[in-house]
Amino acid sequence: MNTSLLRATACAILGLYGAAAHALDPLSYANYDQVKTRALHLDLKADFTKKTLAGHAELTLDWLNKDARRLDLDTRELTISKIEALDARGRWTKVAYRLDKFDEEKGQALHIDLAQQAPKVRIYYRTAPTASALQWLTPAQTMSGKRPFMFSQSQSINARSWAPVQDTPSVRFTYTARIEAPEGLRVVMSADNDPKATGKGGWKFNMPQPIPSYLLAIGIGELEARTLGGRTGVYAEPLRIKAAEYELADTEKMVEAAEALYGPYRWGRYDMLVLPPSFPIGGMENPRLTFLTPTMIAGDRSLVDLIAHELAHSWSGNLVTNASWKHWWLNEGFTTYVTTRILEKLYGDEVATMNLQLEQEEAIESLKEIPTEKQALLMRAADTGSNTYTDEGLAYPKGAWLLRTLEQRAGRAVFDPFLRGWFDGHAFQSVTTEQFVAYLRSNLLSKHPQVMSDAELDEWLYGPGIPASAKYAKSQRLVALDATTAAWLKGETPTAKLDTKGWTATEWMKFLNDIDNKADAARLKELDAAFGLAKTGNNEVAFRFYRAAVHAGYRDVRPQVQAFLMSVGRKKFVVPLYAALRANPQDRAWAEGVYKAARERYHPETQVGVDKVMK
Ligand SMILES: [Zn+2]
Repeated sequence: MNTSLLRATACAILGLYGAAAHALDPLSYANYDQVKTRALHLDLKADFTKKTLAGHAELTLDWLNKDARRLDLDTRELTISKIEALDARGRWTKVAYRLDKFDEEKGQALHIDLAQQAPKVRIYYRTAPTASALQWLTPAQTMSGKRPFMFSQSQSINARSWAPVQDTPSVRFTYTARIEAPEGLRVVMSADNDPKATGKGGWKFNMPQPIPSYLLAIGIGELEARTLGGRTGVYAEPLRIKAAEYELADTEKMVEAAEALYGPYRWGRYDMLVLPPSFPIGGMENPRLTFLTPTMIAGDRSLVDLIAHELAHSWSGNLVTNASWKHWWLNEGFTTYVTTRILEKLYGDEVATMNLQLEQEEAIESLKEIPTEKQALLMRAADTGSNTYTDEGLAYPKGAWLLRTLEQRAGRAVFDPFLRGWFDGHAFQSVTTEQFVAYLRSNLLSKHPQVMSDAELDEWLYGPGIPASAKYAKSQRLVALDATTAAWLKGETPTAKLDTKGWTATEWMKFLNDIDNKADAARLKELDAAFGLAKTGNNEVAFRFYRAAVHAGYRDVRPQVQAFLMSVGRKKFVVPLYAALRANPQDRAWAEGVYKAARERYHPETQVGVDKVMK
């Protein structure tokens, strides 16, 4: 997932690094130490009037304990009408079940009591209109305004709101699906998508590789498909398809660059789905079908690092998966590292270094807001739930920084095969930090002990902030920009004389970060008049300009800020903007008014985020 910087939940462990004994994921009710799901089949009908998916889920089970007779699943707001189990003679019979009390964070445990170890169970259910994974859009919230739209975001523990599953990254299953949708709408999923399918008799899907539940994904809407390369393509609303096709043209090259580094892409096709703007995050690495925010379509391919990030998850996350969300950095830190490597291969060292420097600067800036204990890549406390997890955003750059440090000291001739070996050796497995550390010791540090001492590794993993030994990326172009920014802030360079010709989006982002809280309303007005920043098509740049404008009290841009907040639902932009507005007494009432009108347009995840800062 890409929630953090621009480009850009469990196991109690015995002992520090040694053999790991896993407790069960505290964010799941599943008894997956007794029985595991091997395959899932979904047969569902989408009803846009009721905002529900209704039908059944069939789970194929592997019983691990010969005495076990109970299956515990995760659910959230599911209305269950009946559950059947397959007996040894091939007959489906009704079985008894009960739902536990509702828990705000985890939902409801579903206990299914079985007389014998059934090879399959079928759960007949429907979702709630408020399902935490699903967002149902009215036609007015789409580009054409003609047809409704629906999409899912299952990570981290929202799959349970649209399918009764063992909702933990420690369980992997293959899946098939048959989905009925109203005429004129296309259904796509994180599975094989056939651009020629018509949906007659239902839209059918097959995902032959085993995935964790958080990668279950569905999108339904007025969608068109375009081919990009031999195995790459894009789906988007008809009015956005051309722009999406242009913006994503480099995708096939990116897959090739990643393969050259980390071995074959193992998922068949790599397609992307560009969603309406209320999609709450930048991108979601749903296998075979990355979900993307339309805010990455800048018109000049300046934000395609997001694609590199989601593609990199095809190795880190989707192929080798964190065993619980406590080990989140194994997904996101690794992916952030791989992203920079892909960018370097495609666009050269300077572009990659600029991105990296900005990523590191924003990580250091973010430390001010993050409690010390949440700054560790792995908290020492036993995994008892999300209070024992690293700050979500920091895991990206800090994890990447650790890997880059190892790479720089060991050299790429050593580090690249080491990392590829990690992916190859743990493909389609769920892993813990302790497993990675054991792999690091036996495959790198034992031969090259000078690369990192035990004490320093400890500091990276369990310490707050970024270790003092860390090396900072320095881009020559950004160093030159510092002087330009300083001269402008001091008034030595008048705004009209600012030479921004040839500035990349990254340079604009860095400039706007550096003048934030320093330039007053009059200077921001000048900047806007000279460069049209309030109307930029690049949302990363727009967001940073609006943030600086709010901090400076530059209120001429209120209409643009309002339009942005009304149309974009990406948490990373929306939450900090409301927080900045809320902090200023002169903006508070205005911000509350905007939020009142915008709230229903946001995904439930974004609503939760904004509700917190607007309290
Ligand atoms: Zn990610």
